Amino acid sequence: MAKYTIAIHGGAGTIRKEEMTAEKESAYKNGLNEALNAGFHVLKNGGTAVDAVRAAVVSLEDNILFNAGKGSVFGNDKSQEMDAAIMDGRTRNAGSVSAVRNIRNPIELAYKVMTESEHVMLSGRGAEEFAKLHHIRTEPDEYFFSAFRFEQWKLAQQTDKVILDHTSMEKKFGTVGAVACDEFGNIAAATSTGGMTNKQWGRIGDSPIIGAGTYANSKTCAISCTGHGEPFIRAVTAYDVSCLMEYKGLTLYEAMHLVVHDKLLQLDGEGGMIGVDAQGNAAMLFNSEGMYRGKMNSEGEKEVLIYKN
Ligand code: ASP
Repeated sequence: MAKYTIAIHGGAGTIRKEEMTAEKESAYKNGLNEALNAGFHVLKNGGTAVDAVRAAVVSLEDNILFNAGKGSVFGNDKSQEMDAAIMDGRTRNAGSVSAVRNIRNPIELAYKVMTESEHVMLSGRGAEEFAKLHHIRTEPDEYFFSAFRFEQWKLAQQTDKVILDHTSMEKKFGTVGAVACDEFGNIAAATSTGGMTNKQWGRIGDSPIIGAGTYANSKTCAISCTGHGEPFIRAVTAYDVSCLMEYKGLTLYEAMHLVVHDKLLQLDGEGGMIGVDAQGNAAMLFNSEGMYRGKMNSEGEKEVLIYKN
């Protein structure tokens, strides 16, 4: 039996220490702990990496503190459009949805696209129609609303800027993701997000784009990214890590380090990523001030962190 591991993130960005209270910090850490435990529970019971990342991401989507599912940020027309993707490193099957509204758990819809459709990516109305057919749970607008995201949106409207969910000020942390390696040495990645505050409606970020914000291949790595989506798309970020491992023989950590601290910076790409390989090694790297993150493995190692350590 191989070492099994899970790593999660709840968004990267300029998480200012001076705006963080002990109470808030513990609320975020509790949310991360719950998600880690949900994913780890699946692995411990012999479940697959795919089911582990689903469980962890659902837990984060249901938590209003994070920018995914409930508590997603608002776009320029005050809508809450969400993106999500999941990829199975064993088969390299993938499913993704973009710009969907009122879906309680976009990651579950992405999973259905992967398992029950002949497509990889569905967007907007078509994705919502598919959700209905597959009895995916929906919620009214009020379910997704959070006062602090709304305040953040009002501020962004004044400046007419599209802002990264975690750029300055408090309460701006978001996008969630998970990567896991199960006891069979298979790996998977999942990412879910409300995107960026005040984004143009219809805008699609890196998270649902296979190879940009989400990628998994059991020969190399499983990666979930968070940060300013546009540079992450242009850098084909998650796949780049996999390529560096496959073609140049870099380790997971070396490949992630090169991408996060060099290649992304060349495009002003602020953010970070989590990754695992098929030996159960995990890494969590970012070039921003902080990243909500945590990892846990079958050897009893566990950490939950926000700032650089
Ligand atoms: N990457 C996400 C996007 O651009 C945002 C984030 O990670 O917070 O949609």
